[in-house]
Amino acid sequence: MKRLNEFPYKRALVVGLAKSGYSAAELLQNSGVSTTVNDLNASEQSPEARKLTEIGVTLVTGSHPLELLDATDIVVKNPGIPYENELIAEAVARKIPVVTEVELTAYLHKGPVIGITGSNGKTTTTTLVHRILEADGRNVHVAGNIGEVASEVAQSTGDSDIMVVELSSFQLLGIEKFRANVAVWLNLFDSHLDYHKTRENYQEAKANILTNQSAEDCFVYNADDSSVEGYKTKTKAKSIPFTLQQSKEGAWVDESYIYYKEETVADRSKVVLVGEHNIQNCLAAVAVCKCFDVSNEAIQKVLYEFAGVSHRLQYVDNKYRRFFYNDSKATNIRATSYALEAFSKPVILLAGGLDRGNDFDALAPYLSKVKHFILFGETADKLEVLARGAGVPVVSVDTMKDAVYAAYENSDDEDVILLSPACASWDQYRTFEERGDAFIEAVRKL
Ligand code: ADP
Repeated sequence: MKRLNEFPYKRALVVGLAKSGYSAAELLQNSGVSTTVNDLNASEQSPEARKLTEIGVTLVTGSHPLELLDATDIVVKNPGIPYENELIAEAVARKIPVVTEVELTAYLHKGPVIGITGSNGKTTTTTLVHRILEADGRNVHVAGNIGEVASEVAQSTGDSDIMVVELSSFQLLGIEKFRANVAVWLNLFDSHLDYHKTRENYQEAKANILTNQSAEDCFVYNADDSSVEGYKTKTKAKSIPFTLQQSKEGAWVDESYIYYKEETVADRSKVVLVGEHNIQNCLAAVAVCKCFDVSNEAIQKVLYEFAGVSHRLQYVDNKYRRFFYNDSKATNIRATSYALEAFSKPVILLAGGLDRGNDFDALAPYLSKVKHFILFGETADKLEVLARGAGVPVVSVDTMKDAVYAAYENSDDEDVILLSPACASWDQYRTFEERGDAFIEAVRKL
């Protein structure tokens, strides 16, 4: 296992003892950095907490005492903790660097890093890039927001291995030395405004992916998204566009093929993923892989086989001549609108969830294929207003089992039954995965 190399800080405060906090604290302490962990709710008796105290980490739970900062050179915070948190705000005021664990990979991993961000499509694109590089025989590791703690993965990578890291805006806010040799910015939609407050803050957080890039690096960007496109001149890296329009630069498509510059890379009709948005993800992946001279065979193998990441417009089953799709990860309007655009058949839409205070007017233009709404969760009433306005019939239900049954009852042969809630799941489920699994289970039992 590698240890932090040339880490300039002697005393670290890790705030938040989730999976990433535990891993960061262990790494820091084992690298000779005197480490304290602070968490409001963690139990000092939990197995994780005990393991940390055994190796000499100091644990402070129950409150966020500001005095902890008197003996702190760097704060490593859980990405979800907002900057308004009193302790974090005080650290910023005292000019103590505040980073997330992703930053620590800069002191561990020597090989190329591919960083992938955007409002939607990160996990799909990260998975595509990882699989294509693997299919091309590269030593490649996947980490970050997608699941594995980046600084944990980076402890056992070879010197020329490639790391593909999915990066959220929360993680990118805490970047100092972290450098993406290939930075990918997929798109920018209004999202996470409860955390970032303004769209500008959110955009700037995403733009942090360009921090520390140099002339040998690449910036893969969505040329069709005006919020992203402007950054092509703001990085020192070589800018490589991807676009759904005809082009001679970067990755692009027409009705028949996917191209890179003037070269034909893959047959579009053989791509398994559905929806234009997924074609964008494929194009981004192609552009990244071309930075590493990957063969078209490896790209084709993956694009022609990959049926989607679980809970992202995932094809579930064809039952009673209905096509069931699980898009539980669609936690905002934009993701749901893309899902609706992906189908040409009539759709029974299962939607609703946590109420974040927004309305759903922006979904109205995408409802032409929606034949029936099945609504649940805190936003059911708001979505009902939208549906009635569009003249689409509505059924409101309490459980996923009832939702799937109501969808079946109100559908015909060949219809698509789509869970794409346009809302987070936390009003009824612990995670969007749990919600998607409940859907799959209900389909199975139908
Ligand atoms: P993320 O990891 O950024 O949340 P995912 O790949 O998990 O992205 O996809 C999340 C949701 O966003 C899916 O439900 C999908 O329908 C939608 N989506 C995926 N890619 C895109 C894209 N390029 N543009 C817009 N929406 C997308």
